[in-house]
Amino acid sequence: MNIAAFLKMTYGIYMVSSKSGNQLSSYIANTVFQVTAEPPQIAISCHKNNTSAHIIEESGVFSVSVLEKETDAGLIGLFGYQSGNEEEKFDRVDYKYGTTGAPIILSHSLAYFECRVVDKYDVGSHYLFIGKVEEGELLHEEKDPLTYAYFRNEMKLMAPERAPTYVDKNKLKKLQEQENEEPKMKETENNKGKDLGPTYICTICAYVYDPEVGDEAQGIPPGTPFEDLPEDWVCPVCAAAKSMFMLEN
Ligand code: FE
Repeated sequence: MNIAAFLKMTYGIYMVSSKSGNQLSSYIANTVFQVTAEPPQIAISCHKNNTSAHIIEESGVFSVSVLEKETDAGLIGLFGYQSGNEEEKFDRVDYKYGTTGAPIILSHSLAYFECRVVDKYDVGSHYLFIGKVEEGELLHEEKDPLTYAYFRNEMKLMAPERAPTYVDKNKLKKLQEQENEEPKMKETENNKGKDLGPTYICTICAYVYDPEVGDEAQGIPPGTPFEDLPEDWVCPVCAAAKSMFMLEN
């Protein structure tokens, strides 16, 4: 099996949110898809070990927010890669409660749906929840949604390990090396020519630090080599330490 074939499948990128008692949860998902039109039903796939799976099971409701193409990596990092207190994460975004009682993320959202769980399937590592859509709202008709292809190819991010569409980076790298004996050598050579040093990749989320770009959000100007980043600098997506980065090639 060629695992690179999976990278040709594409999806949207969504925030799936729920609440049970006082416990809030939200996570970034690409496996969200409409399964029937009448009644309108949406399926989501959620890792069994994620708190969200238990909260959705308990509450029987969830909301789906469709993210816009301009969504910043910070939002995706906060809910997609960083563990921590969910309540504090919600403090950093705009959201409201819908008629089902589920929180609905509004930051970077183009549209949202509120769903009530009508079925749950055990598919091994994940649960597949089927939700009947009770409410749906279009917030920004003029904007484009974020696609999984854009997330991977332009934002250079990869699905985290618990995502249903996770592809092992090491297996993929080996495969690319077999197919192409000189991957990215020329790029690295060019970068060296500019004296900025090579690019570094986060081993947790696959974010690439490019010295030509810097990291504006953390006050790192363009033209800063990786070695010159302060020791307390962290991955802008998943908040991993600088030591979690490795040379990209
Ligand atoms: Fe990272």
